[in-house]
Amino acid sequence: MNDKTIAYILENVPAMIAFHDTEQNIVWGNRDYRDACGIDADQLAGKKCWIAWGLSKPCQNCPVKVALNTGKSAEAVITREGQGHWPENQGAWHVRATPATDDQGNIIGAIALAFEITKRKSREKIRLEEAQDRFRAIAENALDAIVLIDEEGKVVYWNPAAEKMFGYHAAEVMGKDVHAVLMPEEYQERFKKGFEEFRKTGKGPAVGKVIELTAKLKPGTKIPIEISVAPIRIGENVWVCAIIRDISARKRLIEDLQQTRDLLQAVLDNIPLMIKMYDPDGRILLLNKTFENLIGWSKEEAEKVDLMQEIYPDPAYRQKAWKFMRSTAREWREFSIKTKNGDIVESVWTNIRLPDGNQIGIGMDIRDLLAKDNALKESQKRFDLLVSRLNDVIWSAKMNGSIIEANHAFETVYGISEEDLKRNPGLWLEVVHPEDRRIAEDSARQLRNTGLAEAEYRIVRPDGEVRWIRDRKSLIYNEKGQPKQMGGIINDITELKKKEEEKERLQKQLIQAQKMEAVGRLAGGVAHDFNNMLSIILGFTQLAMMRLERSDPIYAELEEIYRAGERSASLTRQLLAFARQQTIIPEVLDLNACVAEMLKMLQRLIGEDIEIAWKPGTNVWPVKMDPSQVDQILANLAVNARDAIKSVGKLTLETENVVIDEKYCARYSYSKPGEFVMLAVSDSGCGMDQGTLERIFEPFFTTKGQNGTGLGLATVYGIVKQNHGFINVYSEPGQGTTFKIYLPRFAGTIRGKTAEQHQDLPRGKGETVLVVEDEPQILNFCKKTLEYLGYRVIEATNPMEAITLAEKHSGKIDLLLTDVIMPEMNGRELATQIHSINPNIKPIFMSGYTSNVIAHHGVLDEGIVFVQKPLELNNLAKKMRKALTQK
Ligand code: ADP
Ligand code: MG
Repeated sequence: MNDKTIAYILENVPAMIAFHDTEQNIVWGNRDYRDACGIDADQLAGKKCWIAWGLSKPCQNCPVKVALNTGKSAEAVITREGQGHWPENQGAWHVRATPATDDQGNIIGAIALAFEITKRKSREKIRLEEAQDRFRAIAENALDAIVLIDEEGKVVYWNPAAEKMFGYHAAEVMGKDVHAVLMPEEYQERFKKGFEEFRKTGKGPAVGKVIELTAKLKPGTKIPIEISVAPIRIGENVWVCAIIRDISARKRLIEDLQQTRDLLQAVLDNIPLMIKMYDPDGRILLLNKTFENLIGWSKEEAEKVDLMQEIYPDPAYRQKAWKFMRSTAREWREFSIKTKNGDIVESVWTNIRLPDGNQIGIGMDIRDLLAKDNALKESQKRFDLLVSRLNDVIWSAKMNGSIIEANHAFETVYGISEEDLKRNPGLWLEVVHPEDRRIAEDSARQLRNTGLAEAEYRIVRPDGEVRWIRDRKSLIYNEKGQPKQMGGIINDITELKKKEEEKERLQKQLIQAQKMEAVGRLAGGVAHDFNNMLSIILGFTQLAMMRLERSDPIYAELEEIYRAGERSASLTRQLLAFARQQTIIPEVLDLNACVAEMLKMLQRLIGEDIEIAWKPGTNVWPVKMDPSQVDQILANLAVNARDAIKSVGKLTLETENVVIDEKYCARYSYSKPGEFVMLAVSDSGCGMDQGTLERIFEPFFTTKGQNGTGLGLATVYGIVKQNHGFINVYSEPGQGTTFKIYLPRFAGTIRGKTAEQHQDLPRGKGETVLVVEDEPQILNFCKKTLEYLGYRVIEATNPMEAITLAEKHSGKIDLLLTDVIMPEMNGRELATQIHSINPNIKPIFMSGYTSNVIAHHGVLDEGIVFVQKPLELNNLAKKMRKALTQK
């Protein structure tokens, strides 16, 4: 076929054919085309197709335009509704456009082939078309994707929303299988089948409903969609209109919501709290797993019973629970819940009121907590008991000093109640002894500065009792290292202190006693030798004086010698008394009588300026001691009082029965319990300071310089000790002094004191005396004195000689006067031996100091006659007679 033939065929074919350039200008149109347009061939070329067709604007679905744009064939129904210069020429054409390409495949234009579908359209059709236009307007502007599918499942309409949603231009999808465009591979088959089913039956899952599907976008991603389809009858055929909505945002929202819900559920199921929710009428809406597990009721079971009645069987209790459940108080309250199997769960509950009126109850099982709490309480109780039983004070306080607590011991030690202390935290310091307050204050300061303090001080209890305490305290810090509290332990160390003081005093006393003992020994030794010398001096002086007339001028001189000798003898006696080596002859005495007898002598001793007050006690018990020792005590104390008073004053003498108990002894260690007669000698003198007081009993301690001997009180001390008594001294400078001498009560019966006959010098009647003395001068003195007194004397310078002489002597020997301490043999042994030779001989012992030979601890054996050296004429004469008259 040649071109001419082809041209002819094209020109005369009973179909409209036109060729358009790329700008949609008609290049050429055949006869049918020109007829349809009513335009000549030369007029047609170069015209835009819609202008040639008499339209005011391009057709929206122009297949030529689609073919040019896409390079693919396109078709559409084009209608003309009498516009332009074709008012009568209405109709519809099915137009199919095919792109034309050159050898390189470039689009150079489009061929359009059109058939008239209707010669003329009915009015209804036109209206329908108008409706279609309206639909189109709606569809074009809808937010949902609207896709129209023809009876074969091909896309015939694709609105802008679909373009936007799926990413395809309408031209891209037009005429394509809808499932191929929209469905992911995996759903395509199913969709296809469903669609076929739908075509056959008009039924399908998506018809008249909204269903969710997954769709595929142009880039291949999938989105969730919601789709609803509706069948549309087009002539003989049924098309389908699908409205598609992208629901990914909604899906996401739902997913989020679900996640939140899942989380909540997980919390609800796993939280170890019981959670129940009920509506305002009390109907259960929710019970969580913890509740179900603990109480044993599931929600389903609980709905069938009255749960409140089950878990709170007691009506009153249940009422209480209801009331609490309805309250909005934001608090936890304890409830005992009965479980399904009858156990009791101790629990605490709180409520939350929701805005919709529903209530949520949240509960916690506190059995473990209670058990722990109980264990803690038990241990606390035990601890409290322990603390309350302690004798030591345990306390704690805030940093501002206010007391948190103090145990029972506080009241015992301080005599103050814990309440008083809490009311007044400064009380602990107020009760501190004024002299110790500095110490207590310093300890408080030290505590704050160093965190630790220890102090010992005294407190004065409200009852006046003074107690020593040891106060140890420390700061208590918080986890940041800042002081939070303070606390400590206070021990009552009164007893300890007493013991310490006691120990100290005993130590002092021991040292003092040892000193006295040493001095005493020394003094005793000196006195012994000294006594012998004095015996000679005094003896010979006396002898010489006896041989002289009183008017003799030498007599007065001898008298002076004698007096000086006597003063010396008195001193030695004092020394011996102190050393307790004075030989004494204790007698049972009435102390009142002794003092009374001495009063005159004492007054002479202290002078007229000092008044003596004598206050004898009534029914004063007897004491047993040497009466001369009472005199010694009184004389020494009186002289001291005189020295202390200096000018005018008063000396008071008192006696009294006193019972010393253990308690007194505990305070004054040198005292002893028992019954005593107390002799008190007080003066209104100058008194003494502590230093003096501590030393007064020391021999040779004096504050009187040359005028004092320091032996007065030492003597008193020795005498009292020898007689198993003790002395107390009370004195303060300027306040006078009181000496209290305690002499033990004599328990035996009193033999009437034989009043001593004061008579002239008792003389011998020629009796023979054997005198034994190793000191020749004393022996000589004895011989002369005894001969002077009228005795015959046999002299011996040692015991052996005495024995020989006694054996040889043919006549009677009446008396043996012997020294006690001699080399070879003591006086007592000698006496025994002489006695065996001459049973009628009576012994007299003479000595400067006592010896266990004739006396035990200075106390002479019963029935022994003893003369104290230095020998004194009068005394010797008396003792001679005494021995001779003894049976
Ligand atoms: P002397 O009297 O020789 O000094 P004492 O042994 O009698 O020795 O007394 C020792 C000291 O005790 C005295 O020197 C005096 O200081 C003091 N003393 C004793 N008695 C009293 C008293 N009644 N008043 C004040 N001081 C006294
Ligand atoms: Mg004196």
